[in-house]
Amino acid sequence: MKHRDKYPTREVDPENFLDNEEINSMLERTDEFTFTQEDWVRLLNCVHCNECGTSEERARLNQKFLQDGNTIPGLDAMIHNFKKNGTPYHKNEMRITKPEGIPASSDTLFFMGCLSTIKIPRFTSNALEYLYQQGLDFTILDKEICCGYPLYVSGAMKEYRELQARNLDIFKDFKKVICLCPACFFVFTQDYPEMDIEYAFISDYLEPAKTEKSGSVGVQHLCQLKNRGYPHVAGNVDKILMNSGYDIEPVPHWCCGGGIGYMHRTDVIDKIAMKRMGDFAGDYMTTYCPGCYWIMKRFRKRAGTSARLKDIFALLMDS
Ligand code: SF4
Repeated sequence: MKHRDKYPTREVDPENFLDNEEINSMLERTDEFTFTQEDWVRLLNCVHCNECGTSEERARLNQKFLQDGNTIPGLDAMIHNFKKNGTPYHKNEMRITKPEGIPASSDTLFFMGCLSTIKIPRFTSNALEYLYQQGLDFTILDKEICCGYPLYVSGAMKEYRELQARNLDIFKDFKKVICLCPACFFVFTQDYPEMDIEYAFISDYLEPAKTEKSGSVGVQHLCQLKNRGYPHVAGNVDKILMNSGYDIEPVPHWCCGGGIGYMHRTDVIDKIAMKRMGDFAGDYMTTYCPGCYWIMKRFRKRAGTSARLKDIFALLMDS
C-alpha cells in the first residue's frame, strides 16, 4: 500500500481526476461556464468515499452537469426504474429470509436498503437474524423505497426529492430507524429534512460473540462512516472481533470502490476493487457494509484473494 494514493480515483485514473481546488473554483463560478457531455468522464471520476472531503461538492457539480443539458450514461434507465419500482433496479422484490418472530409492528424500523434486499440477500438475511437474536424489538417493511442516494450522487435532485418525500411519509410512523446501509444512513442524517425520529447504524448493535471464535480476519471498514464523522466505529468493530477470539489482519484502510454501488464510471470501480482485493489475506475477509460486501463478492475470486468472504454477522453469530 506504501505507494498508493489515498484518493482511490486519483490512484486509478489520475488524468481525469479533479482536485479539490478545481472543484471549489468551479462551484464558485457556476454561472460563468457550461459543462459539455465530455466532462462526464472527469466529473464522475468519483465513488464518493469522501476521503478528499468534497464528495458533496462533486455531487452538486453533477446537478449542474445535468442542468446544462447533458446526461450520464445509464442514468435515464435508472430513473425509469425508480419511477416504476422505487429502486434503481428493474424490479423491487426482496430476496431475504425474514425470521419468523419479527413483529408486524414496532416503534423501531430496520431499514435495509435496496442493494441489501435485492442484490445480496445472504448478507441481509444474516443481519436480520443477528438483530433478531439480540432480542431487539424491531420490524421491517414488506417493500422498501430506495433512500435515493444513487440519484443524490448523480445530481438528479427532482427524482431524489420524490423518493425522499415518500420515505418521510413512511417514517412518520416510527420513533427509530436502524440502517443497514451507510449510504441510507448518510442521506437520512445529513440531507433528509429533520423530523422527530432517531437514526442509528447497524454497527451500534454489534457485540462480541457468545461462544469463542478463532481465525484471522481482514476487515473492510466503511469510508462512509470514517470520512463522515464516525471514525471511531472501525476501532470498536475490531475490538468486538478480537473479544470474540479472532485475530485482526493488518489491512490498512483504503476504499473498495463500492461507494456508489455499480454505476457511472464502472471502469474506475473495477480498477479500485481489483487493487483493494489484493490487500486481504488471512482466513476471512469481512465487512458490515452492503456496498463493500457486494464488491468483495464480485471481485474476490477475480483478484485471486484466498481469504474466505464471510459477513460480520455470520462471524459473530453462533452457527
Ligand atoms: S470522494 Fe473519494 S472517490 Fe470521490 S474524488 Fe474524493 S477521494 Fe476520490
